[in-house]
Amino acid sequence: MLTFTCLRCGRCCKACLFIPLTYEDFYDWYLSKCFLPILLTIKESNIYTEEAGIEWAYTLLSARHNVYSLIRKILEKYNVKICEEGCSMFNNVYNYCRIYRRRPLACKLFPFDNNLRVVSWALENCEAIKKGLVRPPPDYVIIAQKYSEAIERTYSNKNVLDKVENIRKIVFDKVMRRIITDKYDLETLRYLLFNIVEYG
Ligand code: SF4
Ligand code: SF4
Repeated sequence: MLTFTCLRCGRCCKACLFIPLTYEDFYDWYLSKCFLPILLTIKESNIYTEEAGIEWAYTLLSARHNVYSLIRKILEKYNVKICEEGCSMFNNVYNYCRIYRRRPLACKLFPFDNNLRVVSWALENCEAIKKGLVRPPPDYVIIAQKYSEAIERTYSNKNVLDKVENIRKIVFDKVMRRIITDKYDLETLRYLLFNIVEYG
């Protein structure tokens, strides 16, 4: 059995897959002032959440959603293109994740789930898995454990969900109010929204 190595083809990022987010993901983005992914989150129901025993989870906005058209317009104004084929954080032109070093735990673990099983989409579509690279690398054990605990902590505890909502509210208020009212200094806005992305 060969150890998995991602081929960085980006196919999974363009596939409109569900990316359950945890409080840890939000908190990491918030602390590092990586605000754009926080703005582009939504609550969504999905079969994964049914399997995990929860009704819904936060996920990154993908092209199939029409909400947040205002954010889209602003990004377009600054020439930041939202990926039209999948996750909003994917740079479709140069084929990379804009927040790679700060990507969600679910993405760090992909194409494995928190039980280190290959997810069904990847069996059919991930070239690395199709090449037989099906054994998770050793450090994935730690990521899987962290992810499981984070999912459990986030979705079974109302206080933690309140904290997530609070982070989202602060960021929406802080960034969006400035944008909507046009009462912002452009450099500040760029820092708040744009200069913090494109980690590559
Ligand atoms: S589809 Fe597979 S090989 Fe391609 S980026 Fe995703 S995990 Fe990596
Ligand atoms: S956050 Fe990054 S790694 Fe995760 S799906 Fe989006 S583009 Fe891909």
